[in-house]
Amino acid sequence: MNLTFTKCCVCEIDDAEPIGVGADYEYRTGNDTFLAMQCNSCGLVYLNPRPEVSEFETIYPSDYHAFNFSEKDFGVVYKIRSSLEVKRLLSWCKDLPDNARILDVGCGDGFHLKLLREYGKKDWTLEGVDIDKRAVQAAENAGLKVYLGSVEKIDLPKDAYDLAFMIQTIEHLEKPYEILTAVKRILKPNGKLVIVTDNTDSIDFRFFKGGYWGGYHFPRHWNLFNQNSLAKLAEKVGFEIADLTTQISPVNWVYSIHNALVDWRAPRFFVNRFTLKSTVSLAAFTSLDSVLQKFGKGALLRAILRKL
Ligand SMILES: [Zn+2]
Repeated sequence: MNLTFTKCCVCEIDDAEPIGVGADYEYRTGNDTFLAMQCNSCGLVYLNPRPEVSEFETIYPSDYHAFNFSEKDFGVVYKIRSSLEVKRLLSWCKDLPDNARILDVGCGDGFHLKLLREYGKKDWTLEGVDIDKRAVQAAENAGLKVYLGSVEKIDLPKDAYDLAFMIQTIEHLEKPYEILTAVKRILKPNGKLVIVTDNTDSIDFRFFKGGYWGGYHFPRHWNLFNQNSLAKLAEKVGFEIADLTTQISPVNWVYSIHNALVDWRAPRFFVNRFTLKSTVSLAAFTSLDSVLQKFGKGALLRAILRKL
């Protein structure tokens, strides 16, 4: 695999310590091992070196979950996740006008847009952007309006959107600063950007940061944040931070255990109890993470940013 060296996307320097090493335990797209580095200045965790952008189709195989998260394949997990996500999405939308324009950046197969189409106000304009043509195809097949490409390269109108989402997107990006700057440009004054991403100030990170942590998602997560590094990036772009908190998720707990079992060559039936399809382990770790979230240590970070 072709790799490239990088630096902290927040501080723009490479002054970091190795913190974790691991492989692609989930999709086995290659046999390479990868190194996670933590910036000594802001705490950002970043893959260095990371795959070249040209390796995109290798590291995102066609069975990648964000291309096809459907009720048919995920059954009850799809239903439960949908009902939780609808509540969250609508809570971020509650101040929006009836004719609001909403953009989902990194929309995948359109999971969030479909929920808003079903449960949101009927005059909202819903649009998505994704860099992967398979994701865009899946979203278009569902009847959604989706642009193929990266948000800074697509000719979207300035000062036009009331709300943008980046839900589990920023950690995949090559250039988070450039993307946030482009999103800020297309938002209306006072428009909001909601970012949800893995939290490196969580308990699951502390346990598994040596290599098995699900949030590393080797080699697909290139930049992983804590509250400090995310706030620093948002301020550098010129956003006001309206809220920065943590959010419950069982996924990184489940995948941390999954990854350890894979590396220890545990029997397949046992490994399969720790995936996105395993309701028992997802339910158990949702309970655990809901306790941790009360102490500000939930598995995900959530920022609500405002364009002044
Ligand atoms: Zn840094």
